[in-house]
Amino acid sequence: MDITGTFAAEADEEEVSQLMTIWDDKYVESVGMNSWRCLRCNKLFKPKHATRAVAHMAKEKNLGIAVCSASTPKEHSQRYTDLFHRTVNKAINCKRGQETVLNVAEARQDVAAFSLCEKKLKTTLVQSSLFSTPLASGSVSTASSMAAKPRSPQRWLQSSLNGLVDQMVQSDVRTISNAKLEMAIADFWHSDNLPDRAVESPRFKLILKYAKLVDQTFKVPSRKSIGGPLLDLNYKNCMTLNKEMILKEADVFGLAWLSDGATVARMPLMNVLAMCANISPTTVAITDCSEHISHGGKKDAPFIASMMEDLVLKFDPTKSHTDIFFFDGASNVAKAGQVLQAKFPRSYSLHGGEHVVSLFFDDISKLPPIKVSVVFHFYAFLLIECDLTF
Ligand SMILES: [Zn+2]
Repeated sequence: MDITGTFAAEADEEEVSQLMTIWDDKYVESVGMNSWRCLRCNKLFKPKHATRAVAHMAKEKNLGIAVCSASTPKEHSQRYTDLFHRTVNKAINCKRGQETVLNVAEARQDVAAFSLCEKKLKTTLVQSSLFSTPLASGSVSTASSMAAKPRSPQRWLQSSLNGLVDQMVQSDVRTISNAKLEMAIADFWHSDNLPDRAVESPRFKLILKYAKLVDQTFKVPSRKSIGGPLLDLNYKNCMTLNKEMILKEADVFGLAWLSDGATVARMPLMNVLAMCANISPTTVAITDCSEHISHGGKKDAPFIASMMEDLVLKFDPTKSHTDIFFFDGASNVAKAGQVLQAKFPRSYSLHGGEHVVSLFFDDISKLPPIKVSVVFHFYAFLLIECDLTF
């Protein structure tokens, strides 16, 4: 085989090798952020959904996408079918895994809820032999009600809790239900590493309030939905309300603007906050300057002034409400303040007091007695956390 033939064979081998994802296929072209095109039938699809894309290429019907109308060579077709089966199996295994986690979590929570019930009901249940002693179905969990046939801890626990429910008065049933929900909340907080204070959030109280009102048709939003359309909706709503609130008394009290730069996880960011006499500083924007910097730009005075001007004009198009720009002492933002002061004739550019306060506390935290105290409290906090965990 000549050189050209060898290359052709290698290229063909590469073409029909196993696909790791459908997006690696050269006949699948990404279009923008959320669309893709099949280069075999030339159809455009939206959104980018990996399983549906594989179903299209593998010509698997009834999966929410039209199958590919173009003819596919046999070896390529086999490659798509293999990927389709791997994708479906992965989804099934993931679902099974979630069910297992759910069962284990339910069993563990029931154990804890059982103990909680004991405390609340001031009754001794069979705590010492919780997993080793099976109970008769429908019985209250006392030592005399043991059955001969052993069952799995999970089934035993479930039936013992249900049995408890069968024989108790309404108030006790409520106590058990309350204990189960209480433990479910605590277990969720501990297992998913949520901050303890979040349980006291008014928004969590709203979740519980609305959860009582929904029926079986309610579906918990997916993570894609939470981080996608629901986030967009919440963001737009929040920004609109914030703008209304900031501008409500702006014609009387004027507007003040605060801004600072920070690089967080390699992202060069600039925050902008607006403030009115009756409104505490409210976030107006957090601008990602990555694109500007990737094109050789810098977070210099002209860039910051231009970015700020665009934002401020959305709130104050007549330039008649803006009174003050607060920046820290860095030369680039100080110069940007001077530029903005020239562009907004009724404004002054001043040093932001919050930077001074921050530096003040930074200095204090470095004093030897304070530093020791901070370190001690940090380790004490860790010990308390460990004690709670184990
Ligand atoms: Zn196609």
